[in-house]
Amino acid sequence: MKAKGNVKRYTQKAMIARVVRECDMLWRLQILGRANGHCEICGAPGPQDLRDSKWIIIAACHINSRGIWSTRWNLRNGLAGCSDCHNEKTIIEWLQTTDPDRYEWIMEQRRIQVPDRDLDLQEILRTLRDAA
Ligand SMILES: [Zn+2]
Repeated sequence: MKAKGNVKRYTQKAMIARVVRECDMLWRLQILGRANGHCEICGAPGPQDLRDSKWIIIAACHINSRGIWSTRWNLRNGLAGCSDCHNEKTIIEWLQTTDPDRYEWIMEQRRIQVPDRDLDLQEILRTLRDAA
């Protein structure tokens, strides 16, 4: 009986990890695709570009950290940013200037933080797949 319970728990954990990975990948692709691979803050064109003799890497940045699960896969919580712009201060200043409504939404989400157990991962995955 005990072993069966452990297997079930392990299987559930593995399934959740797989869904989380797929959601992360879909979210990342949509953030980068929406920005056409450019840094949305400074306009750096992409990973093939050299600046000050170093390669620019464009990443899908979370505005609220990935640890805040309620906004982890929300497209409003992401932007494409180069390695120079990918820091909290730069991102928050950019957001306040270019999109104050979104900034307010981000701050509100930080305050309300939905508990992990209330998230419907399958629903989030369906939404991300539909948007892809
Ligand atoms: Zn940049």
